[in-house]
Amino acid sequence: MLDNTYDKVISCSKCGFCQPTCPTYLVSGLEHEVARGRHQLVRAQAEGRVAMNKDIKDTLFQCLMCNACYSNCFPRIKTDEVIARARYDYITRYGQPQLQRYIFHYLLRHPEVLSRLLKLAAPVKNSGLSGLAQALRILGWFGKNLATAEQLLEKIPRKSLRELAAMRNWQPRKTRGKVAYFVGCGINFAQPEVGLATLELLTLRGFAVEILPNFCCGLPAYAYGDLDSVRWFAQQNSELLLATDADYIITDCGSCTSFLKEYHRFCDDPVQSERLQPILNKIVDLTHWLADTMDWANYKDDRQPYRVTWHDPCHLAHHLHEKASSRAVMRNIPNVSYTELPEADMCCGGAGSYNIAHSDISKKILARKLTNVVSANADILATACPACIMQLAWGVRQNGMPVRVMHLNQLVLENTVRD
Ligand code: SF4
Ligand code: SF4
Repeated sequence: MLDNTYDKVISCSKCGFCQPTCPTYLVSGLEHEVARGRHQLVRAQAEGRVAMNKDIKDTLFQCLMCNACYSNCFPRIKTDEVIARARYDYITRYGQPQLQRYIFHYLLRHPEVLSRLLKLAAPVKNSGLSGLAQALRILGWFGKNLATAEQLLEKIPRKSLRELAAMRNWQPRKTRGKVAYFVGCGINFAQPEVGLATLELLTLRGFAVEILPNFCCGLPAYAYGDLDSVRWFAQQNSELLLATDADYIITDCGSCTSFLKEYHRFCDDPVQSERLQPILNKIVDLTHWLADTMDWANYKDDRQPYRVTWHDPCHLAHHLHEKASSRAVMRNIPNVSYTELPEADMCCGGAGSYNIAHSDISKKILARKLTNVVSANADILATACPACIMQLAWGVRQNGMPVRVMHLNQLVLENTVRD
């Protein structure tokens, strides 16, 4: 069953303009690894010319869902929507791997359990012992890609962002308005320092912050075709979004921002869907908010400018079409000399947990990105997505590159005068 997915795939004109933008096609050169080939396969399957079987699994699951193809596609086919639906049909027929089911149906629905598990894992991982890797290997959790999975995260923070944030009162001296902060899982559990920088910037620029007690946005489940879980996460979080009286709802993860804005797609109740629409318009990516409040910034101007370049997270560049804000913010910082990264809007290969599930392809895509980073000759590589930060930082560590990878908000905060 492919519902309106069929209408999408039959509108493909087979022009091939998606080829030069597709990271998986660029590393493989294979037609079934580009949007055109993927759409034709889904079409053939819907028309009964190809059976839904395990042979087509790689074609469906090796797509990054980056939507770089969409940016070049005249009929504007959203490949992520086609692929998510096809993956849903696949897992409906063949089932979901147990680990995925556990993560989407239990762990992410009980973040307190995930938090306890990470606290148990942190001392082992952070001590540099291989015990964690061994334990997970015995449990069969990450299989052959375990080594990559463990290396990606340099350290597991001992406290989550929610725990650290609860130690302070996030009220500005003079209030301009109120912001609801949606806490992404990557920031909460892996990069709390990024979230703290966001909270500090929001208060420094005069906004009272309500930290939403939200669940995962649902994008990881979407990426694996678990649309039933997506509906669950969307339903839980939509209640929170509807309840807040904040002027803006802000996230510092481009993927969360873009996915939250899609919640109407997963709402079965037409009344709630209508109520939700104006609320979704209040959702703003932090990058955009930083550009909007640029006039209120008080920047340091006290050193030789350092060279900064920028990697566009796919959800900002190809889903939200938001490329201008980050560049405007960086160009406005006196201590920054901005250099454009070649192929800045090409996926880094991180793509959520793609780098674990498809580590061989992911590494090839990352290698192309790192070659571009070398040519930009920058001191800092900034971006705005925790998965990109993890992937890029890992690549930089592996290759001993003299580049700091950081979130845009950390760059902004580092250059902000705090009195
Ligand atoms: S650019 Fe769009 S229409 Fe052209 S082949 Fe690719 S998916 Fe089809
Ligand atoms: S979503 Fe990305 S990986 Fe998938 S076909 Fe489009 S460009 Fe290629």
